[in-house]
Amino acid sequence: MIKTNDLSKSFDKHEVLKNISLTIPAHQVVAIVGPSGSGKSTLLRCLNGLETITSGTIFVNDHQLRATDKKKVRQKTIHAIRQDTGMVFQQFNLYPHKTVIENVMEALIVVKKQSKEKAKIIASQLLKRVDLQEKEDVYPSKLSGGQQQRVAIARALAMEPQIMLFDEPTSALDPELVGEVLKVMKELADEGMTMVIVTHEMNFAQNVANRILFMADGQIIEDAEPKSFFTQPATERAQKFLAKVKEF
Ligand code: ADP
Ligand code: MG
Repeated sequence: MIKTNDLSKSFDKHEVLKNISLTIPAHQVVAIVGPSGSGKSTLLRCLNGLETITSGTIFVNDHQLRATDKKKVRQKTIHAIRQDTGMVFQQFNLYPHKTVIENVMEALIVVKKQSKEKAKIIASQLLKRVDLQEKEDVYPSKLSGGQQQRVAIARALAMEPQIMLFDEPTSALDPELVGEVLKVMKELADEGMTMVIVTHEMNFAQNVANRILFMADGQIIEDAEPKSFFTQPATERAQKFLAKVKEF
């Protein structure tokens, strides 16, 4: 479960998120779409404590993060939130000097304090889940972008998160590699993972998400079922956005 109350975020005087109040129940798959610069990444980063919020409150499960929290309290809450959420970025950020399986084992050993043997077994299962069992001992540089992103997903899953946040996970990929990453994401959705996905893949958003949030200028200006958003967007802003996206 994710909930924000009047969440705002400014960089200096620039207000990038404006009073966002939002509830995402467990098991929901939410796609966030909207023009570049509208605040999609910043919203996701706030949810995971990667940005400090300027005002308002965020709940992730029963962890409450308030803009007014003192630094020590905030750090403790963010640590707790990150135990429950995994995040996947456009850039895969794998450790280049570690093999695929070592990349997935890292958090299990360092954060979850598993033994090396146990971590290896779990990591191996996770790599199987993203269809990379044959690549365990390979270094990331030897993999395609799609394979690297699947390792990044396996690595995030190692923390056994209840929530997964994705920030344009396929935007850095060659078109022919997009499908294999979306397939893994769809499987996660089918298994009931709570997911928040910033994406430009409109077909995926329409077919896999339960809900579309359309952002513009730091606000959620549409919050709709996929079918209704894609066939009858309520605002002119969304109509224009969809018309542009469809040109590609
Ligand atoms: P989106 O992901 O929708 O493209 P972002 O959340 O990345 O949008 O950015 C929203 C706005 O916040 C943009 O105007 C961007 O320039 C600004 N912004 C994002 N990160 C920073 C930062 N670290 N410092 C200053 N401005 C930022
Ligand atoms: Mg972004």
